[in-house]
Amino acid sequence: MSDMTTAGRLTEAETIALYEKRGALLRGHFRLTSGLHSDVYLQSALVLQHPEDAEPLGATLAAALEDTGARVVLAPAIGGILVAHEVARALGVRALFTEREGGEMRLRRGFALSPGERCLVVEDVITTGGSTREVIACVESLGGRVVGVGALVDRSGGTAGFPARFVALARVTARNYPPDGCPLCAAGTPAVKPGSRT
Ligand SMILES: [Zn+2]
Repeated sequence: MSDMTTAGRLTEAETIALYEKRGALLRGHFRLTSGLHSDVYLQSALVLQHPEDAEPLGATLAAALEDTGARVVLAPAIGGILVAHEVARALGVRALFTEREGGEMRLRRGFALSPGERCLVVEDVITTGGSTREVIACVESLGGRVVGVGALVDRSGGTAGFPARFVALARVTARNYPPDGCPLCAAGTPAVKPGSRT
């Protein structure tokens, strides 16, 4: 990594190494915000807080999706905003974000799409792909055209499908369990809530 330039492209191993170096990818036994227990903890914000990391991650994703001819990059707030920004910076196009309003994913703040505008939808982490599909539906309802989907990390285990080409920089296999059916608990190790400093 020492010879990596800011314009460099990251391999999957380098992407994983970057997450691990920043404490953004932990393996063990965790209690997630959702209440589920998991053997993997992912917090992209811990990587993206470093602009020198966010830039090559975005540039690598942009390079993989450059041939889509996208004119705008969209992401769901909040987690995807910096990803969209860095991908858009590398492509020289706009970065927009969607927000939930009354439970529905919307473009707010005066953001708009031209009819047929070629759009990329990006995320930091794809788990089920649910919010990504909501952004895709939002784009289509506004007359835009989704030409690609990108994520820094795919933890869906290959189950997330999209109606456009999907690129992820890294794949991480994670096992999630309900707390009352967690084999890690049964093995006697305590579940840790990441980020809590009590
Ligand atoms: Zn557990």
